[in-house]
Amino acid sequence: MEQFRQSMLDLIIQTSTNLPADVRRAMSAILDKEEPGSRAAMALSTIARNIDMASDNEGAICQDTGMPTFKIKTPVGVNQLKMKEDILWAIIEATKRGKLRPNTVDSVTGKNSGNNIGSGAPIFYWEQWDRDDIEVKLVLKGGGCENKNIQYSLPSVLEHLGKAGRDLEGVRKCILHAVWQAQGQGCSVGAIGVAIGSDRASGYANAKEQLFRELDDTNPDPALAQLEDYIMEHSNTLNIGPMGFGGNSTLIGCKIGSYHRLPASYFVSVAYDCWAFRRLGVHIDPATGSITEWKYRDMNPAAMAKTEGIPLTGGEVVLQSPITEEQVRSLKVGDIVLISGRMFTGRDALHGYLMENEAPVDMNGGVLYHCGPVMLKDDSGEWHVKAAGPTTSIREEPYQAHVIQKFGIRAVIGKGGMGPKTLQGMKDFGAVYLNAIGGAAQYYAETVKKVTGVHFLEEFGVPEALWQFEVEGFAAIVTMDAHGNSLHAEVLDDSAARLANLELKVLQ
Ligand code: SF4
Repeated sequence: MEQFRQSMLDLIIQTSTNLPADVRRAMSAILDKEEPGSRAAMALSTIARNIDMASDNEGAICQDTGMPTFKIKTPVGVNQLKMKEDILWAIIEATKRGKLRPNTVDSVTGKNSGNNIGSGAPIFYWEQWDRDDIEVKLVLKGGGCENKNIQYSLPSVLEHLGKAGRDLEGVRKCILHAVWQAQGQGCSVGAIGVAIGSDRASGYANAKEQLFRELDDTNPDPALAQLEDYIMEHSNTLNIGPMGFGGNSTLIGCKIGSYHRLPASYFVSVAYDCWAFRRLGVHIDPATGSITEWKYRDMNPAAMAKTEGIPLTGGEVVLQSPITEEQVRSLKVGDIVLISGRMFTGRDALHGYLMENEAPVDMNGGVLYHCGPVMLKDDSGEWHVKAAGPTTSIREEPYQAHVIQKFGIRAVIGKGGMGPKTLQGMKDFGAVYLNAIGGAAQYYAETVKKVTGVHFLEEFGVPEALWQFEVEGFAAIVTMDAHGNSLHAEVLDDSAARLANLELKVLQ
């Protein structure tokens, strides 16, 4: 098994940088489904460009490289302890090389381990089988989509759908509700794995297990196959669209499994994965540890992008940071902006800190980017951005209005939108919310021309630190303006009305 370490490193790097063949097919199929020039089409063309950049540069597709989850099958007699040791080495090495972001945080101290190893991390599922080779499958699923997982206990009453009973009709309502509640926050377009039954804990694990099925396979159970088709067809009529911008494509996959349950329990567990659906696998020769076959992987992926990301028309608003109040008050929902100048990153830890403390830098007129980048330091000590897409903004809802007021922030960039408190704060104090394209980590990393500083690196770790960037031509869309308008609120209400009007009782 001498080659096993290297094989695991190859598996991790390929999974982080190269989308599987079935996901590529699904993404290609929806590229032309949105109206040319629409926000949805713009989001998809940026995603396509990012997918190409990631595989061309061997860079992380998304900066959130998730919680690595391994499913491993071994013949009887294989030394699993040694295999685990080699996989941990490969995880640490991939982190050092900037292919994985240091993503593992101690839940009590808040300290990031810095190498993706921690208590219960990474996640392993081991199984023996009667074949004589080893199979290792890996999924990297980020926090934005993980946070949109949801579990239902039937019977239940669901918003906009009414009573959901203990049958496939009830299951159907739960799944539709799961898609609706995710909106764009899990970086739609997404794919869902669903487990009907099981207990609470295994329900989520089984839902995630469904994500190891290829998106274009057919469920062997005809009733579940019919339900999968129904969910695909009807979810895509909800007008949630890519990034929650509205549009014809909301889901690229729905995979449902049924599991036995206790008579008293009826759980429906849903695992939501984003378009950056990173899943690959390998077969391994147990004598040498080398890879004999790849699973899911497209060995010669064709370019996906037909344009250069967000197509620019000349009608974009150019903003040089620091930005004035007058400039932001002139913006309205739907405007596309191109930002140049200074930008700060800040996520949960920084927002919590700023509520009680002063900022270490002057943020007046500034642009605050909800982003936890992948960073690498070179031998001369200079930092470089390896991946830098937006993170889910709604987590900062309790803090954002106060932070805008206290520090004179004029623009907040993130994905998925924010709530009414932030919208009111933007109106009162003069600020806008800019939605960047979630997961487009390579695309946005290219706009960072220089890293000019970092604060709280020791205390908060790489993803949560305050990074100071000098950017050029950072493109984003105004989705919440200083006049009280929010595209996210509009799409939420419109999709709720569509959800409530879907045909009932369509299942046989
Ligand atoms: S694409 Fe979005 S949801 Fe997926 S891992 Fe990246 S930031 Fe998270």
